Amino acid sequence: MELTEEDIKKMSPEQLRQLQKQQCIFCHIIAKRVQSKIVYEDDKVTAVLDINPANPGHILLLPKEHYSVSPQIPDDLMAYMGMIAKQLSNAVVRAIGAEGTTIIAANGLAAGQRASHFMLHVIPRKEGDKIGIMLPPGEIDDKQMLEFQRLLAPVIAKAFGAVPVEVPKEVPVTKKEAPHEKSPQKKVEEKAQEPEKGETEDPEAKTEKTRLQENEEPKENTETPESPSPKETEPKGKSANLDDITSLLLGGGK
Ligand SMILES: [Zn+2]
Repeated sequence: MELTEEDIKKMSPEQLRQLQKQQCIFCHIIAKRVQSKIVYEDDKVTAVLDINPANPGHILLLPKEHYSVSPQIPDDLMAYMGMIAKQLSNAVVRAIGAEGTTIIAANGLAAGQRASHFMLHVIPRKEGDKIGIMLPPGEIDDKQMLEFQRLLAPVIAKAFGAVPVEVPKEVPVTKKEAPHEKSPQKKVEEKAQEPEKGETEDPEAKTEKTRLQENEEPKENTETPESPSPKETEPKGKSANLDDITSLLLGGGK
């Protein structure tokens, strides 16, 4: 099928998604037309080992349905993926001795997304490993912080039909230091494990390792990891754009 740019522009969102699906290596992996090392599978998700792992045991959690970016994913599926990611995280701690995990999604071109199929990465971490996931401590003043709070709070509340949190009109004069993550790398990594926002000096962060190991039973694996690796985990070329999934297709088909 030879598609021109014009053809693609005329397609409906559903047609675009079908076309992406045909071109998506991960859809082929999920359908088992391409072999992979599956570590978990059910009717909604497939979890496979990344063939270019950031650390050994690096898991890619894929929705079985093809979605490019998170806004397309139904809420209940997104929530389900979060729950599965938690158990995958528990599993790498229990089974392969990870001391922690980094759970991330590259959501959109600007975030470095390369594959057109949305996924969560669950990356086993060890103290001193060479993975460069360290958030640069940017600078921002109180006034700007307040402005971002003011911009974000009503939009987030609206998404849930909730009452927005109250945002002061001006920066309070006697203001305690706000929570932030400007601390050294170790603390940032520990914080990455935290399920909730807390104070930077949260004493619970110190016991994170213990808590990770005390977590409840991971979900049962249903798939034996017998099959050889696929040739690649990520298609080259165009990747997702949060606003325009058409860009994934233009020049992206091999
Ligand atoms: Zn796909």
